[in-house]
Amino acid sequence: MEHRAEARIDTSAIAANIAFLKSQSAAELLAVVKADAYGHGLIEVGLAAERAGADWLGVALLEEAILLRTRGVRIPILAWLVSPGSDFQAAVNHDIDVAISSIKAFNEISLLKVKPRVHIELDTGMTRGGFLDEWQEFLTLDLSHLDITGVFSHFARADEPDEQQNRDQLARFNQMVADLAAVGVNPPIKHLSNSAATLKNHAAAFDLVRVGIAMYGLSPDVNTLGSSKELGLKPAMQVRAKLHLVKTVPAGSAVGYGASAITERQTKVGIVAMGYADGIPRNSQGAGVTQEGKKAPILGRVSMDQFVVDLGVDSTAQSGDWVIVFGDGSHGEYTADDWARASDSINYEMTTRIGPRVPRIYAPHVY
Ligand SMILES: *Cc1c(COP(=O)(O)O)cnc(C)c1O
Repeated sequence: MEHRAEARIDTSAIAANIAFLKSQSAAELLAVVKADAYGHGLIEVGLAAERAGADWLGVALLEEAILLRTRGVRIPILAWLVSPGSDFQAAVNHDIDVAISSIKAFNEISLLKVKPRVHIELDTGMTRGGFLDEWQEFLTLDLSHLDITGVFSHFARADEPDEQQNRDQLARFNQMVADLAAVGVNPPIKHLSNSAATLKNHAAAFDLVRVGIAMYGLSPDVNTLGSSKELGLKPAMQVRAKLHLVKTVPAGSAVGYGASAITERQTKVGIVAMGYADGIPRNSQGAGVTQEGKKAPILGRVSMDQFVVDLGVDSTAQSGDWVIVFGDGSHGEYTADDWARASDSINYEMTTRIGPRVPRIYAPHVY
């Protein structure tokens, strides 16, 4: 059966991005595959990253980590959003490292009979995860029942490399690592960098860098850091869909819910078989698709399962043709960055929100 839409994932692009990102420093590389690998597919990308030389995988949830382990991943896996009340024993059983950032989680994990592998998460200024108010008390605890493999924190503004907050967070990180050393705890793996810092702040690489968006070939911030191309990254995801219907409509036709677009002249419209249920943002004016390399902008609002594009009066497109929704831009197609700009979002959200109705195809992009 042919699909009406698909996301084609080029794992060779992911491998090339991993090789490039590893070359940025001497640190090991943790491939971030949370949230279904930013929409690219947890298991396939996890295994591809391992084959491509990633040293670690990183996820938010323990269940993501367990899935990776049960599907054959052998390299270390870190899960960093493991709340009190989680099944810490399952983490030990599956040889998964977990982050802790509260005394409550510490107390629970300390009850295990086997030494758990733990990374201590520090709040160095982002005010999200990590020890902050409980830090001094934590330093007084007996940590000998834990196998403390790592200590880490996360940058809030690494995509703005000149911001003072980056220097402040780095200094705070070094201070808190020194606090640990003063009580005799020296975690072998210190890590702080996300994609943006891996690319732009080599002084923060420490022993391991955690790369997400850049591994998928997308820029952490097109405005401050430049495009994928400028950064030397290859976008891995190409989204294609079928034209469910092509038809000629007269000038003055009101298109879609709310009639927010009116055709200015007679034209051919294409009905694209994807909608907001598939992750296409409802308001995406300024984005569109390409049909045989020719841009066809969106007309009106995106519906749940479909949206309308203006193919132009001379278009040779036919009902059933494939169009490219976004890709790496090498053939004039819209990119995830174009869609993000049109919908007031970021490329991270564009790929992550492509829904489960859209099959992932692990194959080269097609034009
Ligand atoms: C998501 C996440 C990353 C990856 O960030 P990118 O900007 O995609 O590289 C790294 N570390 C932590 C803790 C994260 O939550």
